[in-house]
Formats: sequence, C-alpha cells, structure tokens
Amino acid sequence: MTAKTLPFSAEKIKEIVAEYGTPFHIYIEKDIRENARKLVQAFGWAPDFKEYFAVKALPNPYIMKILREEGFGGDCSSLAELILCEKVGITGENICFTSNDTPAEEFAKAKELGAIINLDDLTHINYLAKEVGLPDLLAFRYNPGPLREGGNAIIGYPEEAKYGMTKEQIFTAIEQAKGMGVKRFGLHTMVVSNELNVDYLIGTATMMFELAVEIKDKLGVAVEFLNLGGGIGIPYLPEQEPVDLAAFGQGVKQEFERILVPAGLDHMKICLESGRMITGPYGYLVATALHEKNIYKHYIGLDACMANLMRPALYGSYHHITVVGKEDAPADTKYDITGSLCENNDKFAIDRMLPHIDIGDILVIHDTGAHGSAMGFNYNGKLRCQELLLKEDGTVELIRRAETLDDYFATLDFSRL
Ligand SMILES: *Cc1c(COP(=O)(O)O)cnc(C)c1O
Repeated sequence: MTAKTLPFSAEKIKEIVAEYGTPFHIYIEKDIRENARKLVQAFGWAPDFKEYFAVKALPNPYIMKILREEGFGGDCSSLAELILCEKVGITGENICFTSNDTPAEEFAKAKELGAIINLDDLTHINYLAKEVGLPDLLAFRYNPGPLREGGNAIIGYPEEAKYGMTKEQIFTAIEQAKGMGVKRFGLHTMVVSNELNVDYLIGTATMMFELAVEIKDKLGVAVEFLNLGGGIGIPYLPEQEPVDLAAFGQGVKQEFERILVPAGLDHMKICLESGRMITGPYGYLVATALHEKNIYKHYIGLDACMANLMRPALYGSYHHITVVGKEDAPADTKYDITGSLCENNDKFAIDRMLPHIDIGDILVIHDTGAHGSAMGFNYNGKLRCQELLLKEDGTVELIRRAETLDDYFATLDFSRL
C-alpha cells in the first residue's frame, strides 16, 4: 500500500490557490531531492553511476536544475530537449542523446554539445558520419527482440518496438564504427515501461552485462558504459508499492559481480535514464470543481482538461484524486471527473468513489510530475496551465506561466485575412 496523502495542508494549498488560481501543476522540491538521493545511494557501489533524467518526462529547466544539483545528467531525444539541457548547464557527456528517426540538425546540436550520441539503427552510423561527422564516443541501442525472463515471465515485447538494433546489428555497428575511427563505445537498451517488479529491472542489467561480455569476447572491445534505460514504475494505484531502489541497486550489484567482474569489465559505468520515477510521484495537478451535472451518471467538471494531463484519457491510467478538506470524509459518491474538451474520453476518473463534491472544491490529482504537463496539447484551443514549485523553504515559485491566447495564436497572421 502507498498512502496517497498530500504533501501540503489544506490551508497551504488554499493559500496557493488564492494566489495563483487554478489549474496548476505543483512539484515538491524536497521530495524530488530526497528520491534523487535515494537512487544515487542505491548505486553508490557502482564505479561511476549516472542517471540521465529523461527530459521528456518533465521538461522544465527549474526542475532540471534541481536534478543537475543532485548529480543527474539529461536524456534527450529532440532539439528542444538538448537546448533545455544547455540552458541549465547540462552539457558534454552529461547528456545522453537517445533519439530515433533523428534529423541531421539534432545530431549536429548533440555533437556540438559533446553529448553522448546513442544511435538507434545501424544505418545511422553512415548518416551521422556524412551529416555531422562521427564523434570519438558512440553508443548503440539494443533491441533484444522476444524476451523471456526467468523462463516464462515476459518482461516486455521489444520485438514490437520500433527502437534499437538486433544483436547481430550491434556487433556489426561496433566493428563498422571502430573501422571509421570511433574509439569509445557504450550500449543502451530500454525494454520495460512503468515496471514495478524489481526482478525485471535487474533482468535488464543481466541481459546487458552478458551482452557486454559477449562483445568483449568476440570483438575484443571493452564497452565503457551500459545504459539500462528508463521505465522504472511508480505506484499510481494505492494498492501498489514503489520500487525498492536499494534492492534494485543491490540486485544489479550482484549481477555486476557475477558477470562483469570475472570478465575483467569491472570499470563498467552503469547508467539509467529514468523519467517517471524521478519526478512522477512528486507532482500534483490542482483544479477546481466548476460544474456538477447529473444525467445517467454523476459528473464533476473541472477547470482542467486533457491539455493538462492526458494519461487517463490516453491510456486509461489511474490517477488518485483527493478532494481538499474532505480527506477523511467517506467516499460515498460515484463520479466521473471530467475536463471540458469535446472529446468524451476527456475524463480524469471514471466511476470513482469520492466524498461528495461541492462546486468550488479543490481537487488534487496525484502523480502528475512526469508525462503530465509535458504531454499537454492545444486541441479545442485549450491552453496548458502554469507550473509551480513548492520549494524546500516552503515558498512557492512560478516555474512556468500558463499559456495565453496570444501564445496560441502566435503562429497565425490575422492581418493577411
Ligand atoms: C521515455 C524514455 C525514457 C524515460 O522513461 P520513464 O518511463 O519516464 O522512465 C528513457 N529513455 C528513453 C529512450 C525513453 O524513450
């Protein structure tokens, strides 16, 4: 069980609402830092551990700056994400550029920043060489194809994913790049998503450790780092448990000692590029109940919509909801909690048992710190909301203002109508 409580009192959130208005996402600095330190500590045994925060999860430079201070790098897959890293002082090999279907100008920017370029396909070696020139260091993304862990439990369906290269292609890529002057190599994979089972996470490490040994044996190349990707899950549901990071770190350590050390690969750098588990649980979407309607079901309409949080509509994801001030009231009413889009799937919750909601009540939607605001869009002319940071000293900072209609219309020239 994960207690779905709020990190602020009802009085505090009402104060913040009074000052900023709703809707907004609010992120909790103290909790983000504490969690970041837990992760770093879990891999404290590793020769040179690095977490590259997946910028796409929460592309806000104020958050990225906090993570940089905690020793994190950035995982990027677009020009905008590279520029965000540059703006917060994450540069050089503190950036891992794990992109796919990549345009040349993005490779050029990654190279200019000295980022680790992680190629998604064998054909990209020549593309990169031709368009921007090969760097000294290259990483390759591995797609293991059909995967079974421990005999029967499937740890994902990599064969259905567009990413990465086959094992054969990884070998070819290293030989080819070596022949073209590349001197240093890394390997990457990402085979799980929102995974809470620590054994599957450790299984990714086992797979990559074995691959590194095979490459050393067959090609005589000692890969410098193994990036195990993102995909660590978070407990969206109250009955779920967070991943035990210490157990994850210890499990990877055992495999490191079992597989890499005897092979003479004991200097291997271990990397992650988690997004969700870094910020996901430490962000909240705060909205106000705007309308109530009772037809065949009971509906509460919020002043937020899918533009602010798409996951429930897109994936049917559960996001816990707390009605501020009614934390201890009985959850005796079944509601659909909706947004205002002309899209029937614009709902934050369906058939959710909640305390009776009055118009004007503040609703807090949990676990919006990753893939929340970031996935926002402007369908129906809806605007993305402001983002706030609750700082360690208890003050609140506006870290992104809300979009305005001027922003929305900025790409149109009405004067030529
Ligand atoms: C999305 C993504 C991540 C982050 O995934 P999380 O589920 O947020 O941890 C990391 N690496 C790559 C290549 C991704 O596409």
